[in-house]
Amino acid sequence: MVSEGCYRYHEHMGTLSIVATPIGNLEDITIRALRTLKECDVIFCEDTRVTAKLLARHEIKKPLQRLDAATEEKKAGAVCVRLEKGENIVFVSDAGTPGISDPGARLVAQVRIELPGVTIEAIPGPSALTAALSIAGLEDGTFTFLGFLPHKKGRQTALAHLAKSDISTVLYESPHRILKLLNELREVQVPRVIVCRELTKIHEEVVAGTPSEVLSHFTLHPDTVRGEFVVIVTA
Ligand code: SAM
Repeated sequence: MVSEGCYRYHEHMGTLSIVATPIGNLEDITIRALRTLKECDVIFCEDTRVTAKLLARHEIKKPLQRLDAATEEKKAGAVCVRLEKGENIVFVSDAGTPGISDPGARLVAQVRIELPGVTIEAIPGPSALTAALSIAGLEDGTFTFLGFLPHKKGRQTALAHLAKSDISTVLYESPHRILKLLNELREVQVPRVIVCRELTKIHEEVVAGTPSEVLSHFTLHPDTVRGEFVVIVTA
């Protein structure tokens, strides 16, 4: 029996499993994640169509319930009711680790507050953050993760701050804004960036250099300005 704070976990209550899923390559899922998905009572997920594809690939049939950023607060209540009844519940986001620039954190926080005795377990696995870091070669091993920069308010402050930082910064970016971000990083004169694109997928590539050099690469190869990007600004 594990205890947290002054609470003991209640055996009659269900378990909430936060399960990491692939970030592109459907083979990137742990044996434990598959077993947890197979054995649970219900899967709450960001998008039922995305999760249905993953389940079909692994021949798993389970009821799916949508819980996305817009409905997280409301649906967290429904999750609590089911956990109290003893159901074992999985939450998955569309890709990677829930709660990392994805829904899941609010759900976990709410379950912790409303049902402090419930077991919330991590079923770890892929994340674009750790995948990018694993091939970036940051020798000192320290980094700050900011996820997506704010689009408007606070963006310039964040850029100025990370340009001055003596710790590398990891950012997430979409294909629509990657050139804008690289331009901004050039303007605030960061020395070097490592751009990891389409990790775990067929077109995975890493482009490193000054922001100007990386911008030239993507300008010369416009067909590669698509997919998903992690940008590491090195200190
Ligand atoms: N929860 C996810 C995780 O653990 O990485 C992140 C979800 S966030 C909504 C999506 C962003 O993660 C993308 O815009 C991109 O910046 C990054 N990302 C996700 N998959 C990626 C991949 N295969 N290659 C590069 N970046 C990826």
